[in-house]
Amino acid sequence: MKFQPVIGLEVHVQLLTNTKIFCGCSTKFGASPNSQTCPVCLGLPGALPVLNRKVVEFAIRAGLATNCTIAEKSVFARKNYFYPDLPKGYQISQYELPICTAGHLDIEGEWGTKRIGITRIHMEEDAGKLVHGDVPGLGSGSGVDLNRACTPLLEVVSEPDLRSADEAVAYLRKLHQIVVYLGICDGNMEEGSFRCDANVSVMPVGSTTFGTRAEIKNVNSFRFVKQAIEYEIERQIDLIEEGGKVVQETRLFDPNSGMTRSMRGKEEAHDYRYFPDPDLVPLVISPDWVEEVELSLPELPDLKRKRYQEELELPAYDAEVLTASRELAEYFEACLALYPQAKPLANWVMGEVTRGLNDSGLAITACPVTPQRLAELLKLIDAGTISGKIAKTVFDEMWQTGQEPAKIVADKGLVQVSDTGEIERIIDEVMAANQGQVEEFRGGKEKVFGFFVGQVMRASKGKANPALVNELLLKKLKG
Ligand code: ADP
Ligand code: MG
Ligand code: ZN
Repeated sequence: MKFQPVIGLEVHVQLLTNTKIFCGCSTKFGASPNSQTCPVCLGLPGALPVLNRKVVEFAIRAGLATNCTIAEKSVFARKNYFYPDLPKGYQISQYELPICTAGHLDIEGEWGTKRIGITRIHMEEDAGKLVHGDVPGLGSGSGVDLNRACTPLLEVVSEPDLRSADEAVAYLRKLHQIVVYLGICDGNMEEGSFRCDANVSVMPVGSTTFGTRAEIKNVNSFRFVKQAIEYEIERQIDLIEEGGKVVQETRLFDPNSGMTRSMRGKEEAHDYRYFPDPDLVPLVISPDWVEEVELSLPELPDLKRKRYQEELELPAYDAEVLTASRELAEYFEACLALYPQAKPLANWVMGEVTRGLNDSGLAITACPVTPQRLAELLKLIDAGTISGKIAKTVFDEMWQTGQEPAKIVADKGLVQVSDTGEIERIIDEVMAANQGQVEEFRGGKEKVFGFFVGQVMRASKGKANPALVNELLLKKLKG
């Protein structure tokens, strides 16, 4: 029997607000334990939550960018469960009436373009953190750090529309790219700012009834998501083929072994005893506010990519690479404003600039060659002042010193030689020193032409105008 995997993802997106969702405490990462807490996020009796307006704005942004409907009225609910890092005994989340519903994202890959439904996006608070082992200030043992308690999260829940680990990763990458473009999340997966629960089931090919799902919790890299889902699909298929049954449960992925293992039986929604939180009034969002947020959205990656292909006439590959991050696209566009020739510019940004960043480990926002300088450099090539080859030397120098390209060219004597007389003199010398090859060329062996070009360019230290070298060389060789 052949099996069809079915996957749905729940993604937790930590929001980039300065303060928590229901109190004014800082959300800054890395402070000493419990230093960023107050009666509200400590869950002290009688303390009342007050909703952070910025969180709502960010949720609207995410909803609009993923084609959701923004609810005019949504409701916060208490999700009741006990956990030592959850002092209230419940988490404030949204349940029956979330802020965003019925959206979608399109993912591209070997399957073509596929639309993945987004069931809902809701706002909720994060829990605190348990620290085991060496607890600062306590010695050895277990401690609770509530700095993270009440940090704002969005939970983005997909429909079970994904059919392979690769589709799941494509969806996740797209969602990640969007929330980072929107400026609502730093996207840092290692620190847990963007983490994913993967729900996986399998059913016989041709079946229309989904199998029982297992939920793999908190996977925090694209690679692990792929590994975890692939492992889980295999595990379930093997289990069924051996006559066993998949049980609904929560599993953990262990990156060291590449396996998932059972953590606990999966609770059903009714186990949480959800009910509307009486401390928070229903949230009402005016259409005006939604419109205002919509107008403030940046150009999103899909549209940007399309525009690069259609308006700038860039190849699909270039458009993809240049829009991969918002910062890279902004760098490219800043250059383009000063040097409006998209394709040569794209080559430089994808080539030298990217190589420099990779080698130095710098982010594009810290690129030592500013858009201004790169544009100046490309103009020098167009003006014939330097060759494309010399330009790479100048680029490296700019990277090191931050100097303007014109000054580097002048100081180092790198101006391209376009003086016919001078180039002819070099050609004569090269031909005199290589009589044998001259004979070969004249005898019909045209391949040696490349050898002569190389020799002349070398003799000119790379400064001879290549077009002129070709032209004059051909004339002279032919006699
Ligand atoms: P819970 O919080 O109980 O996990 P949610 O509704 O928040 O429930 O999320 C359920 C997730 O599981 C959704 O992403 C959904 O697409 C996915 N899902 C539901 N049924 C299946 C199934 N049979 N196989 C795979 N994924 C499923
Ligand atoms: Mg879940
Ligand atoms: Zn607080």
